[in-house]
Amino acid sequence: MSKRSWAEPYKIKMIEPLRMTSPDERDAAMSAAGFNTFLLRSDEVYIDLLTDSGTTAMSDRQWAGVMLGDEAYAGSANYYHLEDAVHRYYGYKHLIPTHQGRGAEHLLSRLLIKPGDVVPGNMYFTTTRAHQELAGGRFVDIIGDAAHDVNSKEPFKGNVDLSKLQAAIDTHGAGRIPYVCLQCCVNMAGGQPVSMANIAAVSALCKEHGISVMLDATRAVENAYFIKAREPGYGPRSIEEILREICSYTDGCTNSAKKDCLVNIGGFLCVNDDALAEEARNMVVLFEGLHTYGGLAGRDMEAMAIGIAESVQYDHIRARVGQVEYLGTLLENAGVPIILPVGGHGIFIDAIRFLPHIPREQFPAQALAAALFVESGVRSMERGAVSAGRDPDTRANIFPKLELVRLTIPRRVYTQAHMDVTAESVIELFNQPERVVGLEITHEPRYLRFFQARFRPVTGERVLKPAREALSCASSN
Ligand SMILES: *Cc1c(COP(=O)(O)O)cnc(C)c1O
Repeated sequence: MSKRSWAEPYKIKMIEPLRMTSPDERDAAMSAAGFNTFLLRSDEVYIDLLTDSGTTAMSDRQWAGVMLGDEAYAGSANYYHLEDAVHRYYGYKHLIPTHQGRGAEHLLSRLLIKPGDVVPGNMYFTTTRAHQELAGGRFVDIIGDAAHDVNSKEPFKGNVDLSKLQAAIDTHGAGRIPYVCLQCCVNMAGGQPVSMANIAAVSALCKEHGISVMLDATRAVENAYFIKAREPGYGPRSIEEILREICSYTDGCTNSAKKDCLVNIGGFLCVNDDALAEEARNMVVLFEGLHTYGGLAGRDMEAMAIGIAESVQYDHIRARVGQVEYLGTLLENAGVPIILPVGGHGIFIDAIRFLPHIPREQFPAQALAAALFVESGVRSMERGAVSAGRDPDTRANIFPKLELVRLTIPRRVYTQAHMDVTAESVIELFNQPERVVGLEITHEPRYLRFFQARFRPVTGERVLKPAREALSCASSN
């Protein structure tokens, strides 16, 4: 891919300086953080690819919108702007704003899940599954096998396997399935999209059995881009049209606006059913705030309304996904084992193949994320056994097929040069993988352990043994 095909479709108006550190400083910072990149302080980080959640750079229009915040407790003008944007671009009937995606997941799970229910979904997401379980439900994975296969190059690896969905219905009965949770650009599978044909088929099968489909719309715009790029018949359609069509097959959605919608905080729940909307509006008051702000300031809702309109612009979404692909191509060309095809929001490194000398019990992805930080100041995230947590019944560690390190690209924040530096850092480590040492857990929180767990190297003090030649991001830049 030539650079020109995706060059950033914006210019920079304000800058935020980055701090460069020495390998010794980073080694000390990583130890202090218990070898968990979530516990680093951001001023210790050089290029921050921890997450694309809430890390977006807002546009000048959005910042102007912030100044138009109507901070009335009830009936803020910004709520109505947001409602208009959600109606126009997502198409659902009722909007309930929440402080972020998990606020919407909490409401939806409490409203619809009864103890003993099962919720089929195309691969779990951490917060989504946690809320389903808190409500007494159990997640059942119905994603196609290709999603778990790092070697599969299928274009829509996020697709639901309809026979697994049928089997879940046969086993548990439609009465025990409050809804199917359909995720777009499946995060834990590497940001892999779902095809429109598959969405339509899931919707039809669920309709036959009287089961609702709830969309996790967090990455639906990125998914729409892949449908346009890859699915026959959708090339000439606009992102806006495709997004609405995706939503039209579903009965509602939860959404983390911190991703596609280009804001730093916010989320929403949408439903089409009037009675369910009424219940959701009763409940949002308890947990988030009044139904016209849901835990958000007026200015946040205004920025979100503008962000939604910007998110469906073709130049934006093509460059966003294109930047991810650019980094992926650099790594692929160097032979680094990554999930292919590259997904919508980040590069997922296969830690099992990257670090064959570290057994699963020593959390190779956690170790790789920690070592990459010490090597280069690039912050990434583990998406493997630490994120997968424990079986709710046996409390045994879950070892998912995928043991990944995610390099997640914030939207509109970094340039192509930052992608070059990131690729060089990963490749440096890939050429000397035996420098990386496995980890063991020293502290484990009860919920979503990956956020706050602490580790130590299984031998010695360092997760990254010194290089044969001294290397530092400071000296190489
Ligand atoms: C981020 C995310 C969520 C949770 O949203 P928050 O805003 O972080 O609470 C849910 N589902 C998916 C697919 C996500 O990527």
